[in-house]
Amino acid sequence: MKKHNFYAGPAILPEFTVNNVIEACRDFAGTGLSIMEISHRSKEFTEVMEHAQSLFKELLKIPEGYHVLFVGGGASTQFTVVPMNLMQNKSAYLNTGAWATKAIREAKLYGDVEVVASSEDKNFSYIPKGYKIPDDADYFHITTNNTIYGTEIKEDMDAPVPLVADMSSDILSRPVDVSKYVLIYGGAQKNLAPAGVTFVIVREDVLGNVDRKIPTIFDYRTQIDKGSMFNTPPVLPVYAALQTLIWIKDNGGVEAMQKKNREKSSLLYQEIERNKLFVPTIKNEEDRSVMNVCWVMNEEYAELEKPFLEFATRRGMVGVKGHRSVGGFRASLYNALPLDSVKALIDVMQEFESMKA
Ligand SMILES: *Cc1c(COP(=O)(O)O)cnc(C)c1O
Repeated sequence: MKKHNFYAGPAILPEFTVNNVIEACRDFAGTGLSIMEISHRSKEFTEVMEHAQSLFKELLKIPEGYHVLFVGGGASTQFTVVPMNLMQNKSAYLNTGAWATKAIREAKLYGDVEVVASSEDKNFSYIPKGYKIPDDADYFHITTNNTIYGTEIKEDMDAPVPLVADMSSDILSRPVDVSKYVLIYGGAQKNLAPAGVTFVIVREDVLGNVDRKIPTIFDYRTQIDKGSMFNTPPVLPVYAALQTLIWIKDNGGVEAMQKKNREKSSLLYQEIERNKLFVPTIKNEEDRSVMNVCWVMNEEYAELEKPFLEFATRRGMVGVKGHRSVGGFRASLYNALPLDSVKALIDVMQEFESMKA
């Protein structure tokens, strides 16, 4: 039976990516060797790295003065590396979830952190508005898509101080005005590549303004100078990222991704609202994530949560269980998820409703 992959991360990748990685594991670029067995300094891999960086720039229309880095450590390492490089005295953070909370905790190791607003009072089910960003902060940090709760900041905001964003789970899902940010980072395993590679887009002129000593490998200037080759980069995940970038370009770029992602999420939200059994967890439409859609059982039907999950699983739906801190269900609709998978999930929801309600 066909499986429909709604996992939140690691998550679905284009078949194009998976197939080309399989091929490169056997014979990479006609070298007669596996991508897993070649030097990262080989001409063939250097080309992969450079191509991935240039396509990333092209797809997001990244302006001059920015660099694209591919490093290890995951987004969680960036929670530390960002303040190490950018915070002299003080930073400001918006707390929209568990990942933002973790980023805040790390930033506090390096100076004063002002949390300008938090949605923790309602289990992060909304995006705070109307807060004030202190203009003496060295930067303001946001998490654009809150993977666990299904909220998203879908517009690129104007901030009075340099803006930094964790875009782990919505990168390349929409056009981004990169010029509004000084730094964007994320783990690749939600919308780009297998786990193991982390992307960083950084504006070079914001670096070098802190007094502290930065370990060489964590100094962004090192990775910029060395073209992300200061040490051995995650070779296979970078190759996979390149395949996904090529696939995005071949399929109309980030504008086309956004159009398709909006179509998928609005179809699913419509069904959640129509279906007697379910209610969405995010009430405010404006705050709803296009990438991760969360819902729970209508109270009246609470006892049907487990049976619905079992029913959906039998029908080939994978990864629709909500995060343990929210409960209910979550469907992640990353770029590579076909519209047909959303339609299949909707069919399952309707069929279950007709059996039970
Ligand atoms: C998954 C996720 C992270 C954590 O990424 P790692 O690469 O596992 O460290 C951080 N932020 C967001 C928004 C995420 O979705």
